[in-house]
Amino acid sequence: MSLTFLPPPIQQINSKIARHAGVDLYVLRLDLMHPWVNGNKWFKLKYNLLEAKEKNFTTLLTFGGAYSNHIYATAAAGNLFGFRTIGVIRGEERLPLNPTLSFAVQQGMQLVYLNREMYRQRNTPALKEYLQQRFGEVFIIPEGGSNLNGVRGCIEIVGSAIAFDRICVACGTATTLAGIALSLNAGQRAIAFPVLKNGAFLAQEIESLLTNYLASDLSTPHSSPASWELVCDYHFGGYAKVNDELLMFSQQFTQEHGVPLDYVYTAKMFYGVMDLLQQGFFCRGDSLLLVHTGGLQGNAGIEERFQRFAKI
Ligand SMILES: *Cc1c(COP(=O)(O)O)cnc(C)c1O
Repeated sequence: MSLTFLPPPIQQINSKIARHAGVDLYVLRLDLMHPWVNGNKWFKLKYNLLEAKEKNFTTLLTFGGAYSNHIYATAAAGNLFGFRTIGVIRGEERLPLNPTLSFAVQQGMQLVYLNREMYRQRNTPALKEYLQQRFGEVFIIPEGGSNLNGVRGCIEIVGSAIAFDRICVACGTATTLAGIALSLNAGQRAIAFPVLKNGAFLAQEIESLLTNYLASDLSTPHSSPASWELVCDYHFGGYAKVNDELLMFSQQFTQEHGVPLDYVYTAKMFYGVMDLLQQGFFCRGDSLLLVHTGGLQGNAGIEERFQRFAKI
């Protein structure tokens, strides 16, 4: 099983704001690696797929909300690499299926719905046993691909050879941030922008992800300690919450620089970076790499839910 795609392109952003701040701005376009299996979700899946293959599993089972980028990527990757896939979706079935779930079904994913209460138990042994009994031998990947295999894959996102001073990334569970932070050289730092409200709690999650990863047998020796920081001010009210300001920013950024952004993750991080540039947060002479983690498939769902936004 060959799991390599083309390396993601790095695109320079010619922005007046960055120039004014004396900062060089680049975007790492993980969104362009593959039409369907892309973004950070691919990196989080990679070693899960390899482990599943190695252990002779033929079916992957995973979890997500109805608009989940992870469900989308798992369905596509499963199809591409010859796995059956089962998607356990939070909440009730809604017909017709939204664009995310109808894509997943087209890719051959079997959808199963769990009410919110049961879904909350998804990481418990009891629910795992229930799923194993119902579906047989399945390789279970946690929601978002957020396990140590996921961290391991994310170590490959930036590639330590590239000498950017600051690497900026949008952050949900912080699995991606943990992998990136582990890949950096001395002097480099990862800056995480949580898209959830009250994201400061992630500091503890990050510490335990790093500790668990370094203590695991996946870990290879790292020359420098992971350096990271959280910027919690750009959640726009919480997960998947958007307002007109964010939508306008996103559409304007796309028009000006030719980089499409998703509203749930990357638009918030890019907004945050541009705002921080204006506040003098970065040092003159810094080079910044903004990691475009993909997620563009979710925009169809957001625009469908908030039809008025499509008119802006
Ligand atoms: C899932 C996702 C993230 C968050 O990744 P974590 O590892 O959970 O922090 C960021 N950006 C996009 C586009 C995503 O789909």
